[in-house]
Amino acid sequence: MTEITLYNTAKRAKERFVPIDPDNVRMYVCGPTVYDRAHIGNARPVIVFDTLFRLLRHVYGADHVTYVRNFTDVDDKINARAAESGRSIRKITDETTAWYLEDMAALGALEPSAMPRATEWIDQMVAMTAALIEKGHAYEAEGHVLFRVRSYAEYGALSGRSVDDMIAGARVEVAPYKEDPLDFVLWKPSDDATPGWDSPWGRGRPGWHIECSAMAYELLGGAFDIHGGGNDLTFPHHENEIAQSRCMGHGFANVWMHNEMLQVEGKKMSKSLGNFFTVRDLLDQGVPGEVIRFVFLSTHYRKPMDWTAEKAQAAREELAKWRAQTEDVAPGVIDLRVLEALADDLNTHGAITALRELFKEKNFASLKASASLVGLLTLELSWDYPKRHVVEVDSGSYSLTGHNMFSQRLTASDPEMLNSIRNKIGFLLKEREKARTAKNFARADALRDGFADAGVVVKDTPEGAEWELAPDFDPTKLEALK
Ligand code: AMP
Ligand code: ZN
Repeated sequence: MTEITLYNTAKRAKERFVPIDPDNVRMYVCGPTVYDRAHIGNARPVIVFDTLFRLLRHVYGADHVTYVRNFTDVDDKINARAAESGRSIRKITDETTAWYLEDMAALGALEPSAMPRATEWIDQMVAMTAALIEKGHAYEAEGHVLFRVRSYAEYGALSGRSVDDMIAGARVEVAPYKEDPLDFVLWKPSDDATPGWDSPWGRGRPGWHIECSAMAYELLGGAFDIHGGGNDLTFPHHENEIAQSRCMGHGFANVWMHNEMLQVEGKKMSKSLGNFFTVRDLLDQGVPGEVIRFVFLSTHYRKPMDWTAEKAQAAREELAKWRAQTEDVAPGVIDLRVLEALADDLNTHGAITALRELFKEKNFASLKASASLVGLLTLELSWDYPKRHVVEVDSGSYSLTGHNMFSQRLTASDPEMLNSIRNKIGFLLKEREKARTAKNFARADALRDGFADAGVVVKDTPEGAEWELAPDFDPTKLEALK
Protein backbone atom coordinates (compact mmCIF):
# COMPACT_ATOMS: atom_id res chain seq x y z
CA MET A 1 0.00 0.00 0.00
CA THR A 2 1.20 3.52 -0.79
CA GLU A 3 2.70 5.15 2.26
CA ILE A 4 1.35 8.65 2.83
CA THR A 5 3.17 11.26 4.89
CA LEU A 6 1.43 14.41 6.05
CA TYR A 7 2.61 17.53 7.82
CA ASN A 8 0.84 17.69 11.17
CA THR A 9 0.47 21.25 12.49
CA ALA A 10 0.04 19.86 16.00
CA LYS A 11 3.48 18.20 15.86
CA ARG A 12 5.13 20.75 13.59
CA ALA A 13 6.52 17.83 11.63
CA LYS A 14 5.82 15.54 8.73
CA GLU A 15 4.77 12.07 9.86
CA ARG A 16 3.66 8.81 8.38
CA PHE A 17 -0.11 8.71 8.08
CA VAL A 18 -1.60 5.74 9.92
CA PRO A 19 -5.40 5.78 9.92
CA ILE A 20 -7.30 4.71 13.03
CA ASP A 21 -9.35 2.37 10.84
CA PRO A 22 -8.17 1.83 7.26
CA ASP A 23 -11.68 0.66 6.41
CA ASN A 24 -13.03 4.06 7.30
CA VAL A 25 -10.53 6.90 7.01
CA ARG A 26 -12.19 10.00 8.43
CA MET A 27 -11.58 13.68 7.65
CA TYR A 28 -13.31 16.87 8.80
CA VAL A 29 -12.76 20.22 7.09
CA CYS A 30 -14.23 23.52 8.27
CA GLY A 31 -16.59 24.78 5.60
CA PRO A 32 -17.90 28.20 4.63
CA THR A 33 -20.11 30.65 6.44
CA VAL A 34 -22.91 31.05 3.94
CA TYR A 35 -23.86 34.65 3.32
CA ASP A 36 -22.01 35.50 0.12
CA ARG A 37 -20.34 34.00 -2.94
CA ALA A 38 -17.09 32.15 -2.20
CA HIS A 39 -14.08 34.29 -3.05
CA ILE A 40 -11.13 32.60 -4.70
CA GLY A 41 -9.29 32.30 -1.37
CA ASN A 42 -12.15 30.20 -0.04
CA ALA A 43 -11.58 27.81 -2.93
CA ARG A 44 -8.08 26.96 -1.73
CA PRO A 45 -9.02 24.64 1.16
CA VAL A 46 -11.70 23.11 -1.05
CA ILE A 47 -9.21 22.17 -3.79
CA VAL A 48 -6.49 21.13 -1.33
CA PHE A 49 -8.71 18.82 0.69
CA ASP A 50 -10.52 17.55 -2.39
CA THR A 51 -7.13 16.44 -3.71
CA LEU A 52 -6.38 14.74 -0.40
CA PHE A 53 -9.83 13.11 -0.49
CA ARG A 54 -9.04 11.76 -3.98
CA LEU A 55 -5.66 10.44 -2.84
CA LEU A 56 -7.17 8.74 0.23
CA ARG A 57 -9.90 7.20 -1.92
CA HIS A 58 -7.28 5.91 -4.29
CA VAL A 59 -5.15 4.39 -1.53
CA TYR A 60 -7.86 3.07 0.83
CA GLY A 61 -10.73 2.57 -1.63
CA ALA A 62 -13.52 4.96 -2.56
CA ASP A 63 -15.93 3.43 -0.05
CA HIS A 64 -13.45 3.59 2.80
CA VAL A 65 -13.09 7.33 3.23
CA THR A 66 -15.55 9.64 4.99
CA TYR A 67 -15.15 13.35 4.37
CA VAL A 68 -17.28 15.81 6.31
CA ARG A 69 -17.40 19.52 5.50
CA ASN A 70 -19.92 21.71 7.29
CA PHE A 71 -21.94 24.76 6.35
CA THR A 72 -22.02 27.48 8.98
CA ASP A 73 -25.54 28.80 8.51
CA VAL A 74 -25.92 30.55 11.84
CA ASP A 75 -23.60 33.51 12.26
CA ASP A 76 -23.80 37.22 12.97
CA LYS A 77 -22.53 38.04 9.47
CA ILE A 78 -25.55 36.20 8.07
CA ASN A 79 -27.88 38.06 10.45
CA ALA A 80 -26.36 41.37 9.36
CA ARG A 81 -26.77 40.48 5.69
CA ALA A 82 -30.44 39.62 6.29
CA ALA A 83 -31.03 42.88 8.15
CA GLU A 84 -29.41 45.04 5.45
CA SER A 85 -31.03 43.26 2.50
CA GLY A 86 -34.48 42.67 4.00
CA ARG A 87 -34.29 39.05 2.86
CA SER A 88 -34.88 36.08 5.13
CA ILE A 89 -31.94 34.25 6.66
CA ARG A 90 -33.10 30.96 5.23
CA LYS A 91 -33.26 32.44 1.73
CA ILE A 92 -29.77 33.82 2.04
CA THR A 93 -28.25 30.62 3.42
CA ASP A 94 -30.08 28.34 0.94
CA GLU A 95 -29.07 30.47 -1.99
CA THR A 96 -25.46 30.80 -0.88
CA THR A 97 -25.22 27.07 -0.17
CA ALA A 98 -26.42 26.27 -3.69
CA TRP A 99 -23.96 28.79 -5.16
CA TYR A 100 -21.13 27.29 -3.19
CA LEU A 101 -21.84 23.75 -4.35
CA GLU A 102 -22.17 24.86 -7.91
CA ASP A 103 -18.99 26.94 -7.90
CA MET A 104 -16.91 24.26 -6.17
CA ALA A 105 -18.24 21.60 -8.55
CA ALA A 106 -17.03 23.82 -11.40
CA LEU A 107 -13.54 23.49 -9.90
CA GLY A 108 -13.81 19.72 -10.06
CA ALA A 109 -14.33 19.28 -6.30
CA LEU A 110 -16.14 16.08 -5.40
CA GLU A 111 -18.96 16.46 -2.93
CA PRO A 112 -17.89 15.42 0.56
CA SER A 113 -19.58 12.37 2.08
CA ALA A 114 -21.60 14.60 4.40
CA MET A 115 -22.22 18.35 4.48
CA PRO A 116 -24.00 19.10 7.73
CA ARG A 117 -25.71 22.46 8.15
CA ALA A 118 -25.10 23.81 11.63
CA THR A 119 -28.76 24.70 12.23
CA GLU A 120 -29.70 21.04 11.90
CA TRP A 121 -27.43 20.04 14.79
CA ILE A 122 -28.40 22.56 17.46
CA ASP A 123 -29.64 19.91 19.92
CA GLN A 124 -26.27 18.18 19.81
CA MET A 125 -24.49 21.50 20.42
CA VAL A 126 -26.75 22.22 23.38
CA ALA A 127 -26.04 18.75 24.78
CA MET A 128 -22.27 19.22 24.43
CA THR A 129 -22.46 22.67 26.02
CA ALA A 130 -24.46 21.29 28.95
CA ALA A 131 -21.96 18.46 29.40
CA LEU A 132 -19.05 20.93 29.45
CA ILE A 133 -20.79 22.93 32.22
CA GLU A 134 -21.37 19.70 34.12
CA LYS A 135 -17.67 18.82 33.89
CA GLY A 136 -16.62 22.27 35.13
CA HIS A 137 -15.15 23.39 31.79
CA ALA A 138 -17.84 25.96 31.10
CA TYR A 139 -20.10 28.33 33.01
CA GLU A 140 -23.23 30.33 32.48
CA ALA A 141 -23.16 34.11 32.79
CA GLU A 142 -25.92 36.53 31.81
CA GLY A 143 -27.55 34.18 29.33
CA HIS A 144 -24.18 33.28 27.82
CA VAL A 145 -22.29 30.07 28.28
CA LEU A 146 -18.52 30.48 28.23
CA PHE A 147 -15.74 27.96 27.93
CA ARG A 148 -13.30 28.23 30.83
CA VAL A 149 -10.03 28.27 28.91
CA ARG A 150 -7.80 27.96 31.95
CA SER A 151 -9.51 24.67 32.82
CA TYR A 152 -7.75 23.05 29.86
CA ALA A 153 -4.03 22.91 30.52
CA GLU A 154 -3.02 22.24 26.91
CA TYR A 155 -4.78 25.25 25.47
CA GLY A 156 -2.56 26.85 22.83
CA ALA A 157 -0.61 23.67 22.00
CA LEU A 158 -1.79 23.51 18.38
CA SER A 159 -0.75 27.03 17.48
CA GLY A 160 2.24 27.00 19.83
CA ARG A 161 1.12 30.00 21.84
CA SER A 162 1.08 30.44 25.56
CA VAL A 163 -2.07 31.64 27.22
CA ASP A 164 -0.29 34.79 28.35
CA ASP A 165 0.89 35.60 24.80
CA MET A 166 -2.67 35.30 23.64
CA ILE A 167 -3.85 37.82 26.15
CA ALA A 168 -1.03 40.17 25.15
CA GLY A 169 -2.02 39.67 21.51
CA ALA A 170 -5.43 41.00 22.56
CA ARG A 171 -7.29 39.03 19.95
CA VAL A 172 -9.79 38.18 22.61
CA GLU A 173 -12.97 39.98 23.42
CA VAL A 174 -13.19 41.44 26.90
CA ALA A 175 -16.68 41.34 28.40
CA PRO A 176 -17.82 42.04 31.94
CA TYR A 177 -19.51 38.65 32.33
CA LYS A 178 -16.34 36.67 31.52
CA GLU A 179 -14.28 35.16 34.34
CA ASP A 180 -11.25 35.56 32.09
CA PRO A 181 -10.85 37.53 28.85
CA LEU A 182 -9.69 34.36 27.06
CA ASP A 183 -12.96 32.51 27.70
CA PHE A 184 -14.96 32.05 24.54
CA VAL A 185 -18.64 31.74 23.82
CA LEU A 186 -20.40 28.38 23.54
CA TRP A 187 -23.89 29.85 23.64
CA LYS A 188 -25.24 33.38 23.49
CA PRO A 189 -28.67 34.95 23.95
CA SER A 190 -30.79 35.97 20.94
CA ASP A 191 -33.24 38.85 20.86
CA ASP A 192 -36.54 38.58 18.99
CA ALA A 193 -35.01 39.75 15.73
CA THR A 194 -32.22 37.16 15.83
CA PRO A 195 -32.52 33.42 15.19
CA GLY A 196 -32.67 31.47 18.41
CA TRP A 197 -33.40 28.09 19.87
CA ASP A 198 -34.64 27.12 23.32
CA SER A 199 -31.97 25.95 25.71
CA PRO A 200 -31.44 25.52 29.46
CA TRP A 201 -29.92 29.04 29.35
CA GLY A 202 -32.84 30.67 27.58
CA ARG A 203 -33.47 31.35 23.91
CA GLY A 204 -30.19 31.74 22.11
CA ARG A 205 -27.78 30.46 19.51
CA PRO A 206 -24.51 28.55 19.50
CA GLY A 207 -21.04 30.03 19.19
CA TRP A 208 -19.10 29.12 16.08
CA HIS A 209 -16.52 26.74 17.56
CA ILE A 210 -18.95 24.35 19.28
CA GLU A 211 -20.51 23.70 15.89
CA CYS A 212 -17.53 21.81 14.55
CA SER A 213 -16.88 19.89 17.77
CA ALA A 214 -20.50 18.70 17.91
CA MET A 215 -20.88 17.82 14.22
CA ALA A 216 -17.49 16.11 13.98
CA TYR A 217 -18.41 13.99 17.00
CA GLU A 218 -21.83 13.06 15.63
CA LEU A 219 -20.62 12.22 12.13
CA LEU A 220 -17.09 10.93 12.67
CA GLY A 221 -16.99 9.80 16.29
CA GLY A 222 -14.84 10.80 19.24
CA ALA A 223 -11.54 10.24 17.44
CA PHE A 224 -10.87 10.64 13.75
CA ASP A 225 -7.91 10.98 11.42
CA ILE A 226 -7.56 14.38 9.78
CA HIS A 227 -8.88 17.85 10.48
CA GLY A 228 -8.31 20.59 7.93
CA GLY A 229 -8.88 24.23 7.12
CA GLY A 230 -7.10 27.43 6.21
CA ASN A 231 -4.26 28.49 8.53
CA ASP A 232 -6.23 31.55 9.57
CA LEU A 233 -8.39 29.10 11.52
CA THR A 234 -5.57 27.59 13.61
CA PHE A 235 -6.14 30.16 16.32
CA PRO A 236 -8.63 30.63 17.78
CA HIS A 237 -11.09 28.38 15.94
CA HIS A 238 -9.19 25.10 15.92
CA GLU A 239 -7.61 25.72 19.29
CA ASN A 240 -11.12 26.14 20.68
CA GLU A 241 -12.47 23.08 18.90
CA ILE A 242 -9.68 21.02 20.47
CA ALA A 243 -10.32 22.42 23.95
CA GLN A 244 -14.04 21.64 23.74
CA SER A 245 -13.66 18.14 22.34
CA ARG A 246 -10.76 17.08 24.54
CA CYS A 247 -12.61 18.30 27.64
CA MET A 248 -15.50 16.08 26.53
CA GLY A 249 -13.05 13.19 26.73
CA HIS A 250 -12.83 12.82 22.96
CA GLY A 251 -9.50 12.16 21.30
CA PHE A 252 -10.57 14.40 18.39
CA ALA A 253 -8.31 14.75 15.34
CA ASN A 254 -4.95 13.02 15.03
CA VAL A 255 -3.54 15.05 12.15
CA TRP A 256 -4.12 18.78 11.73
CA MET A 257 -3.60 20.20 8.26
CA HIS A 258 -3.69 23.86 7.29
CA ASN A 259 -3.43 25.49 3.90
CA GLU A 260 -1.61 28.80 3.55
CA MET A 261 -3.42 31.86 2.29
CA LEU A 262 -4.00 32.94 -1.27
CA GLN A 263 -3.03 36.39 -2.51
CA VAL A 264 -3.77 38.18 -5.76
CA GLU A 265 -0.99 39.63 -7.90
CA GLY A 266 1.32 39.72 -4.87
CA LYS A 267 -1.10 41.49 -2.54
CA LYS A 268 -3.50 40.43 0.15
CA MET A 269 -6.92 40.16 -1.42
CA SER A 270 -9.20 42.89 -0.17
CA LYS A 271 -12.22 44.82 -1.31
CA SER A 272 -10.45 48.14 -0.78
CA LEU A 273 -7.52 47.18 -3.04
CA GLY A 274 -9.98 46.28 -5.77
CA ASN A 275 -8.38 42.87 -6.22
CA PHE A 276 -11.17 40.92 -4.57
CA PHE A 277 -13.10 38.49 -6.71
CA THR A 278 -15.20 35.41 -6.46
CA VAL A 279 -14.87 32.03 -8.13
CA ARG A 280 -18.01 32.86 -10.06
CA ASP A 281 -16.47 36.11 -11.35
CA LEU A 282 -13.63 34.10 -12.88
CA LEU A 283 -15.94 31.46 -14.35
CA ASP A 284 -18.14 34.16 -15.84
CA GLN A 285 -15.09 35.77 -17.40
CA GLY A 286 -14.57 32.49 -19.21
CA VAL A 287 -11.73 31.07 -17.10
CA PRO A 288 -12.49 27.33 -17.07
CA GLY A 289 -12.76 25.80 -13.60
CA GLU A 290 -10.05 23.35 -14.57
CA VAL A 291 -7.62 26.21 -15.24
CA ILE A 292 -8.31 27.62 -11.78
CA ARG A 293 -7.69 24.20 -10.27
CA PHE A 294 -4.45 23.77 -12.19
CA VAL A 295 -3.11 27.14 -11.01
CA PHE A 296 -3.97 26.27 -7.40
CA LEU A 297 -2.33 22.84 -7.58
CA SER A 298 0.86 24.35 -8.98
CA THR A 299 1.70 25.72 -5.51
CA HIS A 300 2.17 23.45 -2.51
CA TYR A 301 -0.64 23.96 0.00
CA ARG A 302 1.71 25.01 2.81
CA LYS A 303 3.16 27.85 0.77
CA PRO A 304 1.46 31.19 0.25
CA MET A 305 -0.08 31.17 -3.18
CA ASP A 306 -0.31 34.01 -5.63
CA TRP A 307 -3.15 34.15 -8.16
CA THR A 308 -2.06 36.02 -11.28
CA ALA A 309 -3.66 36.48 -14.67
CA GLU A 310 -0.36 35.42 -16.22
CA LYS A 311 -0.40 32.05 -14.43
CA ALA A 312 -4.00 31.50 -15.50
CA GLN A 313 -3.08 32.14 -19.13
CA ALA A 314 -0.09 29.77 -18.99
CA ALA A 315 -2.23 27.08 -17.33
CA ARG A 316 -4.90 27.47 -19.98
CA GLU A 317 -2.36 26.97 -22.77
CA GLU A 318 -0.75 23.97 -21.16
CA LEU A 319 -4.04 22.27 -20.30
CA ALA A 320 -5.37 22.89 -23.80
CA LYS A 321 -2.40 20.90 -25.17
CA TRP A 322 -2.97 18.10 -22.67
CA ARG A 323 -6.67 18.00 -23.47
CA ALA A 324 -6.03 17.87 -27.21
CA GLN A 325 -3.77 14.83 -26.81
CA THR A 326 -5.88 12.92 -24.30
CA GLU A 327 -9.42 13.54 -25.52
CA ASP A 328 -9.86 10.26 -27.35
CA VAL A 329 -7.42 8.22 -25.28
CA ALA A 330 -8.54 5.61 -22.76
CA PRO A 331 -7.00 6.21 -19.32
CA GLY A 332 -3.98 4.00 -18.66
CA VAL A 333 -2.19 3.34 -15.39
CA ILE A 334 -1.47 5.94 -12.76
CA ASP A 335 2.15 6.99 -12.90
CA LEU A 336 4.16 6.26 -9.76
CA ARG A 337 5.92 9.63 -9.83
CA VAL A 338 2.55 11.38 -9.61
CA LEU A 339 1.31 9.13 -6.83
CA GLU A 340 4.53 9.41 -4.85
CA ALA A 341 4.55 13.18 -5.10
CA LEU A 342 0.99 13.35 -3.78
CA ALA A 343 1.71 10.85 -1.03
CA ASP A 344 4.55 13.10 0.10
CA ASP A 345 2.47 15.62 2.04
CA LEU A 346 0.32 16.37 -0.98
CA ASN A 347 3.10 17.71 -3.16
CA THR A 348 0.81 18.82 -5.97
CA HIS A 349 3.56 20.93 -7.50
CA GLY A 350 5.64 17.76 -7.87
CA ALA A 351 2.64 15.89 -9.23
CA ILE A 352 2.17 18.50 -11.95
CA THR A 353 5.87 18.32 -12.82
CA ALA A 354 5.45 14.54 -13.22
CA LEU A 355 2.36 15.06 -15.40
CA ARG A 356 4.44 17.36 -17.57
CA GLU A 357 7.02 14.58 -17.94
CA LEU A 358 4.30 12.17 -19.07
CA PHE A 359 3.22 14.68 -21.70
CA LYS A 360 6.81 15.02 -22.93
CA GLU A 361 7.13 11.23 -23.02
CA LYS A 362 3.91 11.14 -25.08
CA ASN A 363 2.47 8.72 -22.54
CA PHE A 364 -1.02 10.17 -22.93
CA ALA A 365 -2.92 7.21 -21.49
CA SER A 366 -1.00 7.49 -18.25
CA LEU A 367 -1.26 11.28 -18.33
CA LYS A 368 -5.03 11.01 -18.47
CA ALA A 369 -5.25 8.51 -15.61
CA SER A 370 -2.73 10.30 -13.43
CA ALA A 371 -4.25 13.73 -14.00
CA SER A 372 -7.62 12.48 -12.81
CA LEU A 373 -6.01 11.58 -9.48
CA VAL A 374 -5.62 15.32 -8.88
CA GLY A 375 -9.00 16.09 -10.45
CA LEU A 376 -7.69 17.28 -13.84
CA LEU A 377 -8.61 16.12 -17.37
CA THR A 378 -11.83 14.67 -16.01
CA LEU A 379 -15.08 14.49 -17.93
CA GLU A 380 -16.95 16.83 -15.61
CA LEU A 381 -14.41 19.53 -16.34
CA SER A 382 -14.91 19.53 -20.07
CA TRP A 383 -14.29 23.02 -21.50
CA ASP A 384 -16.83 22.91 -24.23
CA TYR A 385 -20.42 23.36 -23.45
CA PRO A 386 -22.03 21.34 -26.21
CA LYS A 387 -25.60 21.62 -25.00
CA ARG A 388 -25.45 25.38 -24.76
CA HIS A 389 -28.29 27.29 -26.30
CA VAL A 390 -29.55 30.68 -25.38
CA VAL A 391 -33.21 31.56 -25.07
CA GLU A 392 -34.21 35.17 -25.46
CA VAL A 393 -37.15 36.22 -23.38
CA ASP A 394 -38.64 39.66 -22.93
CA SER A 395 -36.23 41.36 -25.32
CA GLY A 396 -33.16 40.06 -23.63
CA SER A 397 -33.87 40.50 -19.96
CA TYR A 398 -33.39 36.81 -19.38
CA SER A 399 -31.31 34.68 -21.61
CA LEU A 400 -29.83 31.61 -20.18
CA THR A 401 -29.80 27.92 -20.32
CA GLY A 402 -28.26 25.29 -18.17
CA HIS A 403 -26.71 21.94 -18.48
CA ASN A 404 -25.72 19.71 -15.61
CA MET A 405 -24.98 22.24 -12.83
CA PHE A 406 -21.49 22.74 -14.09
CA SER A 407 -21.39 24.06 -17.56
CA GLN A 408 -23.74 26.98 -17.47
CA ARG A 409 -22.63 30.10 -19.29
CA LEU A 410 -24.62 33.26 -19.22
CA THR A 411 -25.08 36.22 -21.46
CA ALA A 412 -27.37 38.73 -19.95
CA SER A 413 -28.18 42.28 -19.17
CA ASP A 414 -28.68 41.56 -15.49
CA PRO A 415 -26.11 39.02 -14.30
CA GLU A 416 -27.21 39.26 -10.66
CA MET A 417 -30.71 38.22 -11.57
CA LEU A 418 -29.53 35.49 -13.88
CA ASN A 419 -27.27 34.16 -11.20
CA SER A 420 -30.08 33.96 -8.77
CA ILE A 421 -32.35 32.25 -11.31
CA ARG A 422 -29.68 29.74 -12.21
CA ASN A 423 -28.88 28.98 -8.63
CA LYS A 424 -32.47 28.64 -7.62
CA ILE A 425 -33.01 26.14 -10.42
CA GLY A 426 -29.81 24.31 -9.50
CA PHE A 427 -30.90 24.13 -5.90
CA LEU A 428 -34.39 22.85 -6.78
CA LEU A 429 -32.96 20.22 -9.12
CA LYS A 430 -30.83 18.96 -6.26
CA GLU A 431 -33.89 18.92 -4.03
CA ARG A 432 -35.74 16.90 -6.68
CA GLU A 433 -32.80 14.51 -6.86
CA LYS A 434 -32.86 14.10 -3.09
CA ALA A 435 -36.62 13.55 -3.10
CA ARG A 436 -36.22 10.84 -5.76
CA THR A 437 -33.44 9.12 -3.85
CA ALA A 438 -35.60 9.16 -0.74
CA LYS A 439 -38.53 7.84 -2.82
CA ASN A 440 -40.50 10.92 -1.84
CA PHE A 441 -42.39 11.01 -5.12
CA ALA A 442 -45.00 13.48 -3.94
CA ARG A 443 -42.23 16.04 -3.39
CA ALA A 444 -40.50 15.21 -6.68
CA ASP A 445 -43.80 15.56 -8.57
CA ALA A 446 -44.60 18.84 -6.84
CA LEU A 447 -41.23 20.20 -7.96
CA ARG A 448 -41.82 18.98 -11.52
CA ASP A 449 -45.21 20.72 -11.61
CA GLY A 450 -43.73 23.83 -10.03
CA PHE A 451 -41.04 24.03 -12.73
CA ALA A 452 -43.64 23.61 -15.48
CA ASP A 453 -45.84 26.28 -13.94
CA ALA A 454 -42.92 28.73 -13.68
CA GLY A 455 -41.92 28.10 -17.30
CA VAL A 456 -38.72 26.19 -16.62
CA VAL A 457 -38.42 23.29 -19.05
CA VAL A 458 -36.46 20.43 -17.47
CA LYS A 459 -35.24 17.50 -19.51
CA ASP A 460 -33.51 14.51 -17.92
CA THR A 461 -30.57 13.25 -19.94
CA PRO A 462 -28.00 10.56 -19.18
CA GLU A 463 -25.55 13.35 -18.27
CA GLY A 464 -27.92 14.98 -15.83
CA ALA A 465 -30.77 17.44 -15.92
CA GLU A 466 -30.86 20.08 -18.61
CA TRP A 467 -33.08 23.07 -18.39
CA GLU A 468 -34.09 26.15 -20.26
CA LEU A 469 -36.48 29.00 -19.79
CA ALA A 470 -39.65 28.92 -21.85
CA PRO A 471 -41.09 32.14 -23.31
CA ASP A 472 -43.68 32.18 -20.51
CA PHE A 473 -40.98 31.97 -17.82
CA ASP A 474 -42.18 33.67 -14.64
CA PRO A 475 -39.41 34.55 -12.15
CA THR A 476 -41.90 35.31 -9.39
CA LYS A 477 -43.31 31.80 -9.59
CA LEU A 478 -39.80 30.34 -9.60
CA GLU A 479 -38.87 32.43 -6.58
CA ALA A 480 -41.97 31.18 -4.72
CA LEU A 481 -41.14 27.54 -5.47
CA LYS A 482 -39.76 25.71 -2.45
P1 AMP B 1 -14.87 31.42 5.97
O1 AMP B 1 -16.14 31.25 5.18
O2 AMP B 1 -14.38 32.82 6.03
O3 AMP B 1 -14.96 30.76 7.34
O4 AMP B 1 -13.70 30.66 5.19
C1 AMP B 1 -13.86 29.37 4.65
C2 AMP B 1 -12.48 28.76 4.41
O5 AMP B 1 -11.70 29.55 3.50
C3 AMP B 1 -11.62 28.60 5.66
O6 AMP B 1 -11.01 27.32 5.65
C4 AMP B 1 -10.58 29.70 5.52
O7 AMP B 1 -9.39 29.36 6.17
C5 AMP B 1 -10.38 29.73 4.02
N1 AMP B 1 -9.83 31.00 3.51
C6 AMP B 1 -10.34 32.25 3.68
N2 AMP B 1 -9.58 33.18 3.05
C7 AMP B 1 -8.58 32.52 2.44
C8 AMP B 1 -7.46 32.90 1.62
N3 AMP B 1 -7.25 34.17 1.26
N4 AMP B 1 -6.62 31.94 1.19
C9 AMP B 1 -6.84 30.65 1.50
N5 AMP B 1 -7.85 30.20 2.27
C10 AMP B 1 -8.73 31.11 2.74
ZN1 ZN C 1 -14.40 24.32 12.34
